Amino acid sequence: MKNNLQILLKEFLSEKQLKPILARAEELELIIKVRKLKGRWHRETLQKLIKERGEVCEICNLHDNKLTLDHIIPKKVLFDMELDEYYTDESNLQILCALCNSKKGSQLDFSNSKTIVLLEKYIALIKSRGDFSKESKELYTRFNMN
Ligand SMILES: [Zn+2]
Repeated sequence: MKNNLQILLKEFLSEKQLKPILARAEELELIIKVRKLKGRWHRETLQKLIKERGEVCEICNLHDNKLTLDHIIPKKVLFDMELDEYYTDESNLQILCALCNSKKGSQLDFSNSKTIVLLEKYIALIKSRGDFSKESKELYTRFNMN
């Protein structure tokens, strides 16, 4: 673990609390690195999409609320489909205000016509791979698209 982090942790934690953390130091460092990268990607992508699409919520068209980046097909569904590498697929991203984003949560929003289009695209992808995992098969059956 980097010394800075170790010193920082020592200021806040007792020796007893610190021991198990230091034992997991490498894992923690990796987690921190991934979080930082994700945060940066998030910020930069939101700025890029705002430039391209306008500074406005794509559901309610308001722009006076805090704007956020949303995955139309939720991350959880992408991961269940083993399509982790499509996490950054911009066609699956939309700008939502904080209110619309919290209303949508991590559900599939079928009032958005893009949801079906994207599901068809992703299902075609996992179909072309031909190596369904159990979860993908269940999803495929659930949405029953061919
Ligand atoms: Zn909105």
